[in-house]
Amino acid sequence: MKAKCNVASSNTKRSRSSVQAKAQAQAPCGVSTGFYSKDDGFVYCDDVRVKDVRQQVPESPFYLYSKNQLTENFQAYSDALSGIDSIIGYAIKANNNFLIMKHFREMGSGAVLVSGNELECARAAGYAPEKIVFNGNGKLYHELVYAVKEGVLINIDSEFDLENIRNAAREAGKAAKVLLRINPDVDPEVHPYVSTGIKSSKFGIRNERLQWFLDEVKKDGKALDLVGVHCHLGSTISKVNIFYDATVLMVDFIKEIRAQGFDIRYFDIGGGLGIPYHRDTDEVMPSPSDLIEAVRKLVSELGVTLILEPGRSLVGNAGAFVNTVNGVKSNGQKNFIVIDGSMAELIRPSLYDAYQHIELDQPIPGAERKVFDVVGPVCESADFLGKDRELQVPTAGTGLIVHDAGAYCMSMASTYNLRMRPAEYWVDGGKVKKIRHCDTLAEHLAKFEGL
Ligand SMILES: *Cc1c(COP(=O)(O)O)cnc(C)c1O
Repeated sequence: MKAKCNVASSNTKRSRSSVQAKAQAQAPCGVSTGFYSKDDGFVYCDDVRVKDVRQQVPESPFYLYSKNQLTENFQAYSDALSGIDSIIGYAIKANNNFLIMKHFREMGSGAVLVSGNELECARAAGYAPEKIVFNGNGKLYHELVYAVKEGVLINIDSEFDLENIRNAAREAGKAAKVLLRINPDVDPEVHPYVSTGIKSSKFGIRNERLQWFLDEVKKDGKALDLVGVHCHLGSTISKVNIFYDATVLMVDFIKEIRAQGFDIRYFDIGGGLGIPYHRDTDEVMPSPSDLIEAVRKLVSELGVTLILEPGRSLVGNAGAFVNTVNGVKSNGQKNFIVIDGSMAELIRPSLYDAYQHIELDQPIPGAERKVFDVVGPVCESADFLGKDRELQVPTAGTGLIVHDAGAYCMSMASTYNLRMRPAEYWVDGGKVKKIRHCDTLAEHLAKFEGL
């Protein structure tokens, strides 16, 4: 029954046709979860109309999240992992809202980090060091000293990284627990900007140099305790056979490393599972359980703790970017909806030509439908949130929702054009609660005080 009740759970295998979403939204079995539109033409977050949220909050634009959807997304991973010794490491770069971080931690999550500041936030949010992985191709020395002192797992990414980790361990006075980041060289078939596990990537060690790395670790067992291997193939991956293929190759690496006497206890398979951004099509994405089932047998034969590093698939569909229409214009060839949000708050369309579904938050009786580019006020032609979208012609003041904005949206927001990064809210048990204040101009000006 679960799938029937939960209209917008990204983690149950289903078609995302809006017809079906509407049918599910009508299902008479309790609270609906996530963002969806009903037959009345309004868009909802859980059981609350987004239009009503807009009227309750003072800011526009703002980010809105469904706490139920976050819970469900995490639960889908933990259910899928039952019977497997595992750590779910939330990749907090996807969304570092402190309350969202705390929520996952309370559900048992670990954290996957790419900076010392992320480590400090993860510790403040209560994440246990044994469940933290520190990643990156350019980790700084002082960050490494801090990470070793905290006792978190650290990935070795290169020769110089190994050297820095070794020195950091000596300074910290204890061994660093390290994993080797290996590039299995499996093509994730995604946008080149989010492909990270192929040979030409800037991440990971050169596989031909594996023996050099093992020899270096052997030389200095006091500073470097090699406990596992890591790979991260990329992001927005839509086929689980890619994870299977990578695991087959990683199993060989683990066997080779174990044969030299190392006690490999962790296999970190990385993150990267995609979500169905194309809400108006029948796009189907594999679920966490599809991913786990694809590698379950290989992993259990290995006798390791499996680490997963999901970011997007935990938060992506749980958030929306809510804007207000400022006006509609045409250049004679193209129609534009100009909104108050922009590439500064949500850069994925500009950066990766990413598609995120766009809807008005309410029906406009009698309005005709036209094809629009949805653009912001920032002085860049790249400032668009969507292109060629067929929508009803809105009036000024209408709400416009950019869906699936929970991952890599707020966390990538900038202050370009001196726009202040927006507030964040979530719907929690049917109530709208603020979970982050927006930046203020006073904070900005304070940076220049007394110079
Ligand atoms: C970004 C990143 C992740 C998370 O990727 P998603 O596509 O958001 O799941 C996991 N691991 C590493 C090393 C990353 O850099």
